[in-house]
Amino acid sequence: MIALVTGANRGLGRETARQLLAAGHTVVIAARSEDAARDTAAALGPGAVPVRLDVTSAQDIAAAAEQLRDRFGHLDVLVNNAAIHYDTWQHAVGADLAVVREAAETNVFGPWQLIQALLPLLRAGSHQRIVNVSSGAGSLTEMTSGSTPAYSLTKAALNALTRMLAADLRPEGILVNAVCPGWVATDMGGPGGRPVHDGAAGIVWAALLPDNGPTGGFFRDGQAIDW
Ligand code: NDP
Repeated sequence: MIALVTGANRGLGRETARQLLAAGHTVVIAARSEDAARDTAAALGPGAVPVRLDVTSAQDIAAAAEQLRDRFGHLDVLVNNAAIHYDTWQHAVGADLAVVREAAETNVFGPWQLIQALLPLLRAGSHQRIVNVSSGAGSLTEMTSGSTPAYSLTKAALNALTRMLAADLRPEGILVNAVCPGWVATDMGGPGGRPVHDGAAGIVWAALLPDNGPTGGFFRDGQAIDW
């Protein structure tokens, strides 16, 4: 099986890639820095294939799709992990909308564009799964304080996108789910969160769902959570 993980050079993306490799799969280590992709793939060992991919770059996306097509001819799993702007410093009422727009480019339009570009390869795969790494911060039921506006808005949008794509792709057997990894101790999560291993396990669970597994759901640790 061939999986691609965005933002695979550090944090949850790197650990998700490590766990998929440990399960015997080939993993495309997608990172926006070519050096970071190469160094991470080298550190993770056999089965890890580096690809430069800034998810906001249409050019990078097209080039990555071409590389995958030439090398493998198909893709089984896409993990949209890369994200930015956990904007704890602002509230919705006075939010800098430039920050919100920037977050949308990476957290929503990036995954959307990547999914569109890689769909032909996913359609040629045999274990078709799309995992959108989201957050409880994007849950409408948890959105009560107006804090992290860019992050929460874009994760809510990613959740909506997950629902729509799951409906579109259900007839083809492509499972599309959103996963919250919980609060995890990474550069984004900061200290105090749970170990990255535990957060990534819920992402890997969605990547390796059986053919009769759920689609269009929102999960944490393999359990459905509120939108
Ligand atoms: P980190 O900030 O530690 O890592 C983010 C990764 O995304 C980095 O590899 C970064 O690359 C990459 N990235 C950012 N922008 C782009 C881009 N334009 N193109 C490609 N890659 C990009 O975050 P985490 O590992 O903590 O988070 C991973 C996912 O989990 C995110 O979707 C996040 O929202 C979600 N999440 C995390 C939680 C937590 O507590 N940590 C809680 C809930 C959800 P670079 O090194 O080049 O900057």
